[in-house]
Amino acid sequence: MRGLRYPFLTLLLLIVCALPTGCGRDGGGRVAPASPPDLLVIGIDSADWNLLDPMIAEGRLPRLAAFRAQSASGRMKTFVPLEKSPLLWASICTGVGPEVHGVASFLGESGRKAPTGSAWYAPAIWDMIGAAGQSTAVSGMWTTYPARPIDGVMVSDYLPYGRERSVPLARLVYPDSLSARVVACRVDPDSLRARDLARFLPPGADVAALEAAYPRQLRNLREFWAADLGYLNVARLLKDVADFDLFFFYLRGPDMMSHSFHHYLKDDPASPRNDPAELAAFREILPLYYDWVDEAVGEVLSWFPPDRQAVILSDHGFFGPRPNGRGTVEHSEWGIFLVRSPLYEAGAVIDRIELLDICPTFLSLLGLPPAKDMPGAILAQGLTDAGRRHVKQMEKHRVPSYMELCPVEGAEAGLDPAVGEEIRKQLRSLGYIN
Ligand SMILES: [Zn+2]
Repeated sequence: MRGLRYPFLTLLLLIVCALPTGCGRDGGGRVAPASPPDLLVIGIDSADWNLLDPMIAEGRLPRLAAFRAQSASGRMKTFVPLEKSPLLWASICTGVGPEVHGVASFLGESGRKAPTGSAWYAPAIWDMIGAAGQSTAVSGMWTTYPARPIDGVMVSDYLPYGRERSVPLARLVYPDSLSARVVACRVDPDSLRARDLARFLPPGADVAALEAAYPRQLRNLREFWAADLGYLNVARLLKDVADFDLFFFYLRGPDMMSHSFHHYLKDDPASPRNDPAELAAFREILPLYYDWVDEAVGEVLSWFPPDRQAVILSDHGFFGPRPNGRGTVEHSEWGIFLVRSPLYEAGAVIDRIELLDICPTFLSLLGLPPAKDMPGAILAQGLTDAGRRHVKQMEKHRVPSYMELCPVEGAEAGLDPAVGEEIRKQLRSLGYIN
């Protein structure tokens, strides 16, 4: 597969340079590549306007609110029937559905053989832009263990696991030269102090007493936040490694927190789980977690110039418990999507965004055309005049396919069975698997 990179790259560059926005002319009249537009992506798993809007109306989530004012935004329609996050994020990153990319479920629980780790059956955005000479930093994304070679850095989603091992799992990070520094970014859930956790609990709460009374809930809070804090540390590291063309930061914690705590938001006296003391302890924990998410988002945004193109998105929304069970039925079909770019009008509302439109839109923002075998379209609402011209060209010059950039199947990871069980246990506790 790799052998095809060169002809493909040549073809792609010819196409892109034929586009009015793809190349500039220097003073001598020669065609010189314009500096490629960069893109920051912040993924917040399960973020839902139904939770965020009332918080913003109260004056909370100031960084997200400010970013929204600079962006075109709307709600994003995810796949129905509702699906799990690994499948959805792989679809976001490849622009094709699970029947093509093959990421169907957790840990290969499906009839079809799961792709080997991060070598999905379709190329991801980092493979596509890598072929055009653009680099990516991606961390924490689902189904990226073992990390595989890309043009840039891949920090797999297994970083939080296997902390008890004397030697870290192999291939947590590509390139391996960054492994020690990345592993040092990990946060041990037990290292979080009571005064750190207090921000998610009622004012003046006795954290130790709550931890004794509700060990499962506090354990979840510790683990989910520690994982997010670890990936925030990773992002702090990667921002100084290089100026990547695509910087992809992802937080899984909001979805995990939602599965564990969303039911406390709905004051349902019929629920046996909601005894008054328990309800009082955890009623606000999810909005308080989003206050932290807002701080993290603000920090990541602050590393880049204020005119850096940026997208904030989720893969689905969150409805909360329904009578027919837990897991994906708690998801809602409406996620969030915001794009800040000179191609889109600040403050515009986009009312038609579907999940498979996201990858073509990422490519367009990075100055590359989508492929004809991608079912989605570049978002065409809320465009500026320059944006309209650009999107028209990108749609007109779609490449036939990026599929030849599909990664070669990686070596079997030789996953530590104890780590596999640790992950299954966490997914089971969320109702994600049986
Ligand atoms: Zn979920």
